[in-house]
Amino acid sequence: MRLFKIITSALFPNVCVACGEIIPEGEHLCEYCTEMAEKLDFTKACRRCGMPKKECMCSKRVFHFNGCAAPFYNTGVTRDAMYSFKFARKEYISKFFAERMALTVKSCYSDINFDVVTFVPMSFPKKLRRGFNQSELLAKRLSKILKLPLCDDLLLCGKNTAVQHKLGFDERFKNTKGKFKANTNYKLNGKTVLLVDDIKTTGATLDECSKQLLLLGADEVYCITGLMTAKNKKKEGK
Ligand SMILES: [Zn+2]
Ligand SMILES: [Zn+2]
Repeated sequence: MRLFKIITSALFPNVCVACGEIIPEGEHLCEYCTEMAEKLDFTKACRRCGMPKKECMCSKRVFHFNGCAAPFYNTGVTRDAMYSFKFARKEYISKFFAERMALTVKSCYSDINFDVVTFVPMSFPKKLRRGFNQSELLAKRLSKILKLPLCDDLLLCGKNTAVQHKLGFDERFKNTKGKFKANTNYKLNGKTVLLVDDIKTTGATLDECSKQLLLLGADEVYCITGLMTAKNKKKEGK
């Protein structure tokens, strides 16, 4: 068994999820990327929209979710790692994000008792093209770490809409209308839901999904994402 371990670690060395450098077993980031990763400071963030207090969007819009949090900003090395996970099919990277997201849930939502974990769904053709839904993988891992039940069909894809990343703030909210629908086979009366996605940009997707969960009777919805986009954090890397 020990020999097997030595051979596999020589053939498949453990690498940094952001830059690919070989690092010790059990770690996810090299020393340089650990230093470079931009972590969110919860003490300086709005609890509702999750944004740094200076960029709080709650005056512009009343969100359907009760809270939003992420371990990292959508910048630099963590952005690179998320892109490798999503577009280069490096599924092992989901372990890194899920572990950090679990820590964020434990610290930001320490006073919340969650009943169920669910995630932002992906349309069938898109899932077929990509090979997986990254939010689903993250939610599966999170539910295991947090020992919470996962429900994988609470939310379903509705009508096809335009690609989100080409749209502005208000357009994104208009565009997501009808994109998701609640699965009416479920009743969430009085339940508190943890909603998982990979990246929060404007919050339009999470808002629409939360609205659908409230329609099923959910009491409260809290969001957790791997990355959060903030204006004062300029996009670097890929
Ligand atoms: Zn690195
Ligand atoms: Zn806010």
